[in-house]
Amino acid sequence: MPHAYDYDVIVIGSGPGGEGAAMGLVKGGARVAVIERYHNIGGGCTHWGTIPSKALRHAVSRIIEFNQNPLYSDHTRLLRSSFADILNHTENVISQQTRMREGFYERNRCELFQGDANFIDANTIEIESHDGTRERLTAEKFVISCGSRPYHPADVDFTHPRIYDSDSILNLHHEPDHVIIYGAGVIGCEYASIFRGLNVKVDLVNTRDRLLAFLDQEMSDSLSYHFWNSGVVIRHNEEFEKIEGMDDGVILHLKSGKKVKADCLLFANGRTGNTDTLTLDKVGLEVDSRGLLKVNSMYQTAQPHIYAVGDVIGYPSLASAAYDQGRIAAQAIMKGEATAHLIEDIPTGIYTIPEISSVGKTEQQLTAMKVPYEVGRAQFKHLARAQIVGMNIGSLKILFHRETKEILGIHCFGERAAEIIHIGQAIMEQKNGGNTIEYFVNTTFNYPTMAEAYRVAALNGLNRLF
Ligand SMILES: Cc1cc2nc3c(=O)[nH]c(=O)nc-3n(C[C@H](O)[C@H](O)[C@H](O)COP(=O)(O)OP(=O)(O)OC[C@H]3O[C@@H](n4cnc5c(N)ncnc54)[C@H](O)[C@@H]3O)c2cc1C
Repeated sequence: MPHAYDYDVIVIGSGPGGEGAAMGLVKGGARVAVIERYHNIGGGCTHWGTIPSKALRHAVSRIIEFNQNPLYSDHTRLLRSSFADILNHTENVISQQTRMREGFYERNRCELFQGDANFIDANTIEIESHDGTRERLTAEKFVISCGSRPYHPADVDFTHPRIYDSDSILNLHHEPDHVIIYGAGVIGCEYASIFRGLNVKVDLVNTRDRLLAFLDQEMSDSLSYHFWNSGVVIRHNEEFEKIEGMDDGVILHLKSGKKVKADCLLFANGRTGNTDTLTLDKVGLEVDSRGLLKVNSMYQTAQPHIYAVGDVIGYPSLASAAYDQGRIAAQAIMKGEATAHLIEDIPTGIYTIPEISSVGKTEQQLTAMKVPYEVGRAQFKHLARAQIVGMNIGSLKILFHRETKEILGIHCFGERAAEIIHIGQAIMEQKNGGNTIEYFVNTTFNYPTMAEAYRVAALNGLNRLF
């Protein structure tokens, strides 16, 4: 019997959200087309978001490690690299990732189309290629996974060669001595670490009263301290009045009357969903003021045959979550319902230098909820493995219920925090009484390891009980 539509499902965007959905759908037997406007697949995640920023950060942290390690460096042989130098490393990682992801689509016979997608009617998409040619495809269902882009306020001139956003910063090829980073969210803080690690002066301008206010306060205070200690100038509670581009730099005029001058400015304050060119009005869908779509628990928009996943639906706006949302939407499309759900406690990995990671509640949340919790702490400097590898900066904090001993939150600061957190997360997810801090004192850890921080923190916490 001929098919009524060209495809069962069309997926718009090939980032983690689109890939998760497309792979789930083809493995379930659906005929799937993926449309990507960029000349390579992988999404913002691979080309201008997660992967490049993490590759840059890795290169910088190895330079710092080398320069601080007396085994390699005796201060007469300091390793120096510019942003442009380490960009090369990033490009290698991006091409490895792109090749690998192309293989997923090829192996699974998932058709890829290159061009800009927009809706013509409820079941038809038009693809406009870069050469201006247009093609129409029809499908029964759709997954919108078009991601987000940096927010551009109308009064900031992003065409100025010294004013960057988190996408265009990857085209920075001059060597700044001084950078202003406007916006101290995760992206702003990560880039502050990268530039400071390259010995560039950094002014980090925060529109809020503390860094990364969603974190446990101790973690955010530790980051502030380490930024301060490494020479980053943090300015809290500031808003820009005007950003003035000049031939040799930028002057940031703040509403508080201050002025800051630097060689360039990275504007990292907010993001907008990539929905403006999708002509969603033709399918009766509306977005909010940030270009985001609303979905239900199965990632269906107000039009039940159109699903949306990833950054375009807002929180948590993480590659990790986008991929899972795509898989869940695919299950909902194939089976009519999704048995899988995004986990409640999504871990946070922040790749500053030092790294921060957490899962579960913060002390501030537990106090507000009047939960009688206790704290177990381990300092990295007391762990044999940390001493051996020179990872003395850092700590692990476990928050647990003082009566049931249930683990309520884990917060880690220091190198490899984003990996270390998953040990605790696995225990937190145990059901039927399996999630208690006692696990960490009743098990045997490899020695010496960073994982041993859990045993030290658990003993420390349990010793506080009376
Ligand atoms: C600097 C930075 C660092 C980050 N670091 C991390 C991190 O460490 N960990 C983490 O989990 N997350 C991180 N993120 C967030 C992460 O990158 C996003 O959450 C993730 O990429 C979202 O995936 P997505 O599939 O929704 O969108 P994207 O990855 O943005 O992919 C969307 C794709 O859709 C395409 N597209 C858009 N509109 C159309 C259209 N009309 N037609 C055809 N194609 C279209 C785009 O070209 C793009 O390729 C970071 C983001 C940034 C900017």
